[in-house]
Amino acid sequence: MLLNALREQVLEANLELNRRGLVLYTFGNVSGISREDGLVVIKPSGVPYERMTPSDMVVTDLDGSIVEGTLRASSDLPTHLELYKAFPDIGGVAHTHSEFATVWAQARRPIPCFGTTHADYFFGSIPVTDDLSPDEIVEDYEKNTGLVIRRCFHGQDPGDVPAVLVAGHGPFSWGESAMGATRNAVILEFVARIAFHTVDLRADADPIPSELLNKHFRRKHGPDAYYGQPAGGDSSGQVSGR
Ligand SMILES: [Zn+2]
Repeated sequence: MLLNALREQVLEANLELNRRGLVLYTFGNVSGISREDGLVVIKPSGVPYERMTPSDMVVTDLDGSIVEGTLRASSDLPTHLELYKAFPDIGGVAHTHSEFATVWAQARRPIPCFGTTHADYFFGSIPVTDDLSPDEIVEDYEKNTGLVIRRCFHGQDPGDVPAVLVAGHGPFSWGESAMGATRNAVILEFVARIAFHTVDLRADADPIPSELLNKHFRRKHGPDAYYGQPAGGDSSGQVSGR
């Protein structure tokens, strides 16, 4: 089988979404990419999580042609492919309809950065895409979902805010690996939940000041990062304590 290690990682990242309660039934999908091979590994469509094995994962090229696998790929594959093409540094993509992130996506409201929990992972608000046009929905819907995300991030570093809310739909997130994308989906859901309650308690709550946002994001990300251990404890995709 091709890409055994990546198949295992992608399976594990999908199971983690399920374990964290971010998906119901067969909702949700995570993929990972081997940049070296130009190949993507993604969850198959409609297979229950408890029955998925590494060999069920589907391997495709960046045009979406199946290179190895007997099952059909997740129907959201074209969205994942657009993100891999647009964001050359990412190694994984996750998509869920997790409750609170989807609430913000349905309300078409960006999630403001109300606190340092958010600022540790996202350098500013989580944006909402434009609505798709009727034509974009009728023809090549999943590909156009990827393109509307690309438009939303035009000129912005996708590493600074590794998630987006697709208007009227739900969140996509990405990361250095499949598990990194899942981790960002889990953190996004937590951030969306506490932001929802913040607005509930105080409708005119302000985002944190830019100094606090900078401090929290930059101490964990980029050249001046000093959080964690020198070997880079965060690269495993595990969420470390603080
Ligand atoms: Zn969806």
